[in-house]
Formats: sequence, structure tokens, C-alpha cells
Amino acid sequence: MSTTSTAVATHHVPDGLPDRIQHYINGSFVDSVGGETFEVLDPVSNQTYVTAAAGQKADIDAAVAAATVAFNEGPWPRMKPRERARILNRIADAVEAQDAHLAEFETFDTGLPITQALGQAQRAAENFRFFADLIVAQSDDTYKVPGSQVNYVNRKPIGVAGLITPWNTPFMLESWKLAPALSSGCTVVLKPAEFTPLSASLWAEIFEQAGLPTGVFNLVNGLGEEAGDALVKHPDVPLISFTGESRTGQLIFGNAAPMLKGLSMELGGKSPAVVFADADLDAAIDSTLFGVFSLNGERCTAGSRILVERPIYDEFLERYAARASKIVVGDPHDPKTEVGALVHPEHFDKVMSYVEIGKSEGRLLAGGGRPEGLPTGNYVAPTVFADVKPDARIFQEEIFGPVVAITPFDTDAEALELANGVRYGLAAYIWTRDLERAHNFSQNVEAGMVWLNSHNVRDLRTPFGGVKASGLGHEGGYRSIDFYTDQQAVHITLGRVHTPRFGAA
Ligand code: NAD
Repeated sequence: MSTTSTAVATHHVPDGLPDRIQHYINGSFVDSVGGETFEVLDPVSNQTYVTAAAGQKADIDAAVAAATVAFNEGPWPRMKPRERARILNRIADAVEAQDAHLAEFETFDTGLPITQALGQAQRAAENFRFFADLIVAQSDDTYKVPGSQVNYVNRKPIGVAGLITPWNTPFMLESWKLAPALSSGCTVVLKPAEFTPLSASLWAEIFEQAGLPTGVFNLVNGLGEEAGDALVKHPDVPLISFTGESRTGQLIFGNAAPMLKGLSMELGGKSPAVVFADADLDAAIDSTLFGVFSLNGERCTAGSRILVERPIYDEFLERYAARASKIVVGDPHDPKTEVGALVHPEHFDKVMSYVEIGKSEGRLLAGGGRPEGLPTGNYVAPTVFADVKPDARIFQEEIFGPVVAITPFDTDAEALELANGVRYGLAAYIWTRDLERAHNFSQNVEAGMVWLNSHNVRDLRTPFGGVKASGLGHEGGYRSIDFYTDQQAVHITLGRVHTPRFGAA
């Protein structure tokens, strides 16, 4: 099998690439204290294009010290919400103003198709604008006990937040943590993914120009087991917000336990798209193709298992595979490209190994290897397997690439059992026109987020997060503010308090 990919393999190198990537600590770009570096590849040539500072414990210590001073002594946590919101809006404006530049860097570093990287840059701006609005509109509770008490919530930023992010949509996912952490009044140390450190450095200049006080934002690049580990274990970092693989989340959970840190964990997924026979089939096909093949399939909420009701199974397979075979794979910078290059040769090898496993676990309908005409670079043809059994590895395990497993079902009960029969529980997509079934199925499916008759279209006010191995806690809207703040209860006595008079007899 192969695709009819039409894009050609070219290697676009953006202007203005840095000659090295440094940390940003207390308002200055710096190298690692001990001079350690690591190499960064671009996913089309797989050649090193830059070296980045590899943070160690000493670098994390310096960044946490700067963030601690900014928290304890600086203006940021004490500003009025409107003052903070003005700065957050200036950040959003700056991101929007350079969205094309950001997208170009991001595409070069990650291999994401340029049109999709542009959408992610715009979404990063929107995250800042959204949290700016939220903190200005925020109110906290007051409780009256007639005649005796008024009690209120004194909300306070918690302190230095450690933010650890993955490589799949780096800049956007950093904004998803930076915006609520900063808007809450916390100061931060960001540790971006080592595969894709390029765009994170752009935050420093954006924040400086927007007027964020020195020391509020600190960036330490480096490997997870070095810089990330030191951040998780630092005693002066009470909060860790992590997005990444479930097994990394488990490790971080254990490492943070001795200090009882606050943890927000957004982890892996193997989300089902369930297509009933009464669905709008045209819309379901468009949406389930986009749902797994957008962002190169490197998407936590990808609908990577499609469950299809038997009466429409054959027609669905035929139409789905025909479209998948025509997806344009190629140069990530070409606006026509729909699937670009996977982020890194290690990840490419992992995805390709699942493609091989799938050949003995399912019926290959499209893709199945490298696309024609792209002999180098991390390109994988959009790959479709049918008749996949629920105990297959490609049904159970997160592949995080352009590979989909399709399985038939006969009854609603069987569909639910299949949908819930994995360790993950991030998202689910349900396709039906039957209102009763839609709601019953949605309410019973084990997923943190459900979309009815659509792919992942976010409303930023709603909870975001997974159940089971897909995460711990929910962010989104005020839930994110809750994570980065303490809600202290202050009790005010208005009348006489009944006090048993110990020792007064
Ligand atoms: P990863 O777990 O390998 O790495 C994520 C981050 O953790 C990186 O910055 C890495 O350096 C750091 N890290 C690694 N080991 C660490 C350690 N011991 N201590 C501290 N930090 C450590 O994940 P990845 O491969 O970069 O990203 C892909 C994964 O992220 C997929 O599983 C995907 O589903 C998940 N993801 C989830 C969401 C979500 O919202 N649920 C969103 C995007 C991606």
C-alpha cells in the first residue's frame, strides 16, 4: 500500500534561526552553569540545526530562586487583576502580531503542517486573552450565617509553578499553562520538551515587551530526566503542571509525593470515535479523518480508534480508506500539506514499529509505511487498519502518529464496552442522530471530554482533562485558576459564639 502523496520533499530553513538556545533566568539569557548542551534536530533533514543549553540541578536552582524572589518581593502576585490583565492582553497582541513567524519556527522544529501551526499560534494568543478576561470577571464566594458569621474566600496565588510541556504543539501547550499560572499571580519556571525547544525562547522577548516584571517567567531547557526531574524535586516549587506521557506522569507523581505537591497531569490517550449507522456519514468521515490525521496524528485527543456499527461498516471503510490514501503528505512548510514530518527519528521509529505490528493485527487499507517520493525525513503515510480486535496492541496502546484502528460493533452495549476497554480515558467522539442514545452513551463513556457529532472543538470555559490513565485533575476556565491558587476560608464572627467553658466549673 502507498499514498498518492503529491507534495515534494524540500527543506525550508526559516530566516532568523538562533545560533544557540539558552535558558532565560531572572530576565537574562544564560548558558548552563556547567556549560552542558544538547543537540536539536529538524524533522525533515534529521540534522542538528542548533545546540541548546541542557539545564541541570544548578540551573533549576537559579531559576527557582529568581521566581521565588519575584513571588515574595515583586509586584506580580499583588497587582490588581485589571493590571495583570492589561499585560496578559499585550502578550496576546504580540503573539497574534507574529503568528506567521511563530508558525514558521514551530513548523521547522516540529514538522507540523504550516497551516495547522498557524492555528496553534493563534490559539496561544487566545489562551492569554481568555485568562485576562477571566481574572477581571472573577468573583469569590462569601457565606452569611444570619446573626453570627460572614465567611469569605481569600484566594491567593500559591507560589512558584513548575510547568513541564511536551513536543507535539509546543508553543500552544506552553501557553495553556503559562496563561492561567501567570494570570493567577504565580511566578513560573518552564521546562519545554527537549525535541522542540525553538519557540519557547520567543516567550522571553514577548513577556519583556509586554511589561511582565523580571523574574516572573523563567525558562530552563534540557532533558526530562535532568532539568525536568530537578524541577519536580525542588522543595520551593509547590506546584507541577505536567503534560506528557502517562508513564512519565506516574514517575513525576512518585517523585513529587514526598513533598505533597499540587499536581495537574494531562497524559496520554487512545480515544474512540463511535459511528452509529444513523450518523451523518459525510460529516463523520470528514471529522474522523481530521480527528486522527491532523497535527500528524501527534495529538493527545486523537480519535485513534474508530468503532463503526456493522450496517455501515463496509461503506465506511471504503470511503475512509479512499480519502486517507489521498491525504497530502510532505514538506511541512507547504500550505497544501495535510500531514508533515513526525517530530524526531526516535518517534518515527516508534510509529513505524506500530505500523509493522498492525500488519499482523488488522487488515491494511491505506498507508503502511513511508509515502512514495519521500525517502528521507520522518514521513509516515496515513495508515488505516480495519477489523482490529480489542486485544490488539494497536487498539490498546497510544501510537501518537498517523495510524488508525477501525473495529465493527453490533449493539450499543458492545460499542460502549469497546470504547471503555482501554486504560486511557481522555476524549470520545460520538456520531448519531438519536438524542437519547447520544446522551446515554456520552454519559457512560469513560472519557474526560465527549464531543457529539464533531471532532475536538474546544470551548475554553469547559473542563479539560482525562480519566483513568489519561490524567489527574481538570484544567480549563476557573478550574485552572483553582489549581494555581489557594482558597483560604476567612471566618468573621458577628455575634456571640457559643463556647463550652472548659475549666470554668
Ligand atoms: P514525555 O512524557 O516524554 O515528555 C513530556 C515532558 O516531560 C518533556 O518536557 C520531558 O522532558 C519531561 N520529562 C520526561 N521525563 C521526566 C521526568 N522524569 N521528570 C520530569 N520531567 C520529565 O511526553 P512527550 O513524548 O513529550 O509528549 C507526548 C505525550 O504527551 C503523549 O502521550 C500525549 O498523549 C501527551 N499529551 C497529552 C496532552 C493532554 O492534554 N492530555 C496534550 C498533549 C500531549
